[in-house]
Amino acid sequence: MAYILVVEDELLINQLITDGLTSAGHSCVSAFDGVQALDFLRERKFDLIILDVMLPKLSGFEVIKHVSGTPVIFVTAKNRLDDRLCGLDLGAEDYITKPFEMPELLARVRVVLRRASRNERFFVDDLTIDFDAKKVYKAGKEIKLTAKEFGILDMFITNKNCVLTREQILDIVWSYHFDGETLHIIDVYIQQLRKKLGLKDRIKAVYGVGYRFEI
Ligand code: CA
Repeated sequence: MAYILVVEDELLINQLITDGLTSAGHSCVSAFDGVQALDFLRERKFDLIILDVMLPKLSGFEVIKHVSGTPVIFVTAKNRLDDRLCGLDLGAEDYITKPFEMPELLARVRVVLRRASRNERFFVDDLTIDFDAKKVYKAGKEIKLTAKEFGILDMFITNKNCVLTREQILDIVWSYHFDGETLHIIDVYIQQLRKKLGLKDRIKAVYGVGYRFEI
């Protein structure tokens, strides 16, 4: 469970995000403009901030300049590349554009919270995954993974025992949308990952849906 500040001036969207996070077991506080967000941030410590960019009084890009030590996920209708880069340059952990699906937001929240937690290593079978160094060891020997392969593994571990659709995997790891024709690229990556790490029995295909990492 995390303590999350949701900064979004559109009442319905704020409510939607808050409801989604609350049903995932988190505790939320809503702010509706940049100044109110800063007031809350002065008062207490949050584990995560969901931050809209276009806000009354003070934009999300201004608000984040006053944040230190708390991860931020920008949520915004702006999807131009320069806005995206600006957000990430300012230190945001992630960036999601409207309209978005709640499972995608929740998956991103899990990734960011896991990254921010102190649990930097994960162990399964004869594998050790070091998230800080982005390295994987099998029976003590390093297995070289590409950045995308590591990203997929990270996402599976963070969302273990949950079904992820190919679209979600593409959205999270590649951060942009592919058309249906190219979705099979994910199957190729997952085949490689299973083979390299011996995870054939852990990464299960869920017919017609996607994949699940079983622990
Ligand atoms: Ca807005």
